[in-house]
Amino acid sequence: MHGLQGHLGKAISGEANKSLRALPQVQRLLELPAAAALIQHATRSAVLDAIRAALDEARAGLLAGGTEAPSPESLIAAASRLLERHATQGMRRVLNATGIVLHTNLGRAALAREALEAVSEAAGYSNLEYGLDTGARAARAPGVEMLLRSITGADAAIAVNNGAAAMLLILSALASGGEVLVSRGELIEIGGGFRIPDVIQQGGARLVEVGTTNKTHLSDYAAAITQCTRAILKVHPSNYRMVGFTAEADLASLATLAHERGLLLIYDLGSGAMQEIAELPHEPTPAAAIAAGADAVAFSGDKLLGGPQAGLIVGREAAIAPLRRHPLLRALRLDKLTLAALEATLRLHQDPAIARARIPVLRMLTQDEAALASRADRIASLVQPPAQAEIIVSTAYAGGGTLPVHDIASCAVALSMPGLSADELARSLRLHRPAIVGRIAGGRVLLDVFTLEDADITLVADAIRSAAP
Ligand SMILES: *Cc1c(COP(=O)(O)O)cnc(C)c1O
Repeated sequence: MHGLQGHLGKAISGEANKSLRALPQVQRLLELPAAAALIQHATRSAVLDAIRAALDEARAGLLAGGTEAPSPESLIAAASRLLERHATQGMRRVLNATGIVLHTNLGRAALAREALEAVSEAAGYSNLEYGLDTGARAARAPGVEMLLRSITGADAAIAVNNGAAAMLLILSALASGGEVLVSRGELIEIGGGFRIPDVIQQGGARLVEVGTTNKTHLSDYAAAITQCTRAILKVHPSNYRMVGFTAEADLASLATLAHERGLLLIYDLGSGAMQEIAELPHEPTPAAAIAAGADAVAFSGDKLLGGPQAGLIVGREAAIAPLRRHPLLRALRLDKLTLAALEATLRLHQDPAIARARIPVLRMLTQDEAALASRADRIASLVQPPAQAEIIVSTAYAGGGTLPVHDIASCAVALSMPGLSADELARSLRLHRPAIVGRIAGGRVLLDVFTLEDADITLVADAIRSAAP
């Protein structure tokens, strides 16, 4: 122990010194019955690591001024807590009871069953870049591009990792070294560090701001065009709305202006609703943007499209061809699992009615209130006792920066559990398998049923009942 004292350059009390020596050996702890019980749920080496970490923590505590060595039992308990924490760091299934459909922290869009099946089929070998008819190398996943063309009416399509990657590729391939005109009302930040001015700069282009925050006219764009201008960029302000004294140039007139002056019209559409949904506020569709004359339109795969994380680009062949040749494409391309899920989701979108029925995001956003009330009733009746449950009105949201000011009427089950605080109950539900994530309000745990599926109800009820102390 002299060595330790020397290393730290400060004195350790005799008491602490004695306690350090009293800490048990790893091997002795591993032989305790409590450790054997842990090994049944984790591997021996994981338990060994956890015990070592618990001992390190105890040692650090003593060196920091603690005096009493923890008992072998409390060391094993600490190791058990560490193992539990590690287990929750692996990906786990979550039942979303937040009422936020596209919850970024919970993985945005839940995939359709058809997409899940396509993923498992593609997980082994697949014809990813292989022509089964020719027996030779072929284009990568041509199905996705074909479906995107057919749904949006575009001549050409390409799919990359996410919406941000789509914009980076478009700007790098089409506007690098030149100027891009953007309305001052559309210089937005999406979240996660995606800001339009930064992406333009990263793409090697120069941003030219036009108009004012609340009003930008076609003439503002026309006046800003120079010999260096390459493109006009229109951005859908996904996550906020301007109301009041506002004006923007419509897409068709922007397309006419761009084409008269030899420029491209790029549209960052954000969510990219594939169909008009009567129950929801108007969202521009890629098909309408193509019809209005946009050259390249970008949107996400995991917002209103309801598929996997992806960035989709549709447009005119002349605008898309440089993207296919750009070196960034190799770095931004999709893997086979995502392509499989995307293709299956797009296939569902070929028929709007099928898309609404099968794609969870659309099914949730168009469900009727009677379905919500009966789901809440079933949960409440399954959990009392041991819990106390009340059905209350709640507000659901599309989320994910989509339809930001659109409140949707929903129901939540407000829960309390005798003997547990709301925090303790919420934590117990989060640590259950599958995990249940709700929110706390007014001293109760609220589970919004808007984002739960009927098939989840018994799982949710089981989790609540098993939280009883
Ligand atoms: C969401 C969004 C993006 C980013 O898309 P990700 O798929 O999240 O990368 C870009 N632009 C707009 C307008 C968006 O709404």
